[in-house]
Amino acid sequence: MPLKERFKLRIYGDPILRRKTEEIKEFNDSLSSLVERMIKVMFEKDGIGLAAPQVGISKRIAVVLKDNEPKVLINPTVVEASTDMVEEKEGCLSFPEIYEVIKRPRWVKVKAFDLDGKEYLIEGEGLLARALLHEIDHLDGKLIIDYLSPARRAIIKSKMRKLWAK
Ligand SMILES: [Zn+2]
Repeated sequence: MPLKERFKLRIYGDPILRRKTEEIKEFNDSLSSLVERMIKVMFEKDGIGLAAPQVGISKRIAVVLKDNEPKVLINPTVVEASTDMVEEKEGCLSFPEIYEVIKRPRWVKVKAFDLDGKEYLIEGEGLLARALLHEIDHLDGKLIIDYLSPARRAIIKSKMRKLWAK
């Protein structure tokens, strides 16, 4: 498959979005170029985060924007989250043109590895916390639709079916 095709953005209904991702064990050049391409896609699509399954790669890799700088998260895990929750509209590149109110912790601390295999901590509140939690959800096959009521879910599923039919 050509590289460009492989990096096509996956939208809801694509089974890869539900698959649990594989941990990264080797920090090498192919990982770096993969991440580089993910960052490119994130910028092209005006996203504030992107998870590997969204570009067809079932691995524990995500990128998020922090102060307009891309941060690379390899094998990320949530270390701590505030009990204080906020409800905000949230979108996802895998659900084009859909924005739903989702309740998430206001603040979060995440442990991840960088491209050199060095462990680091990243914490964020507000939009950054939301982006971190959203992307880590992707790595566990969890999507924004899972947070919604059955009625809302049905509406979105039908919108997405229409999109697939196009
Ligand atoms: Zn998403």
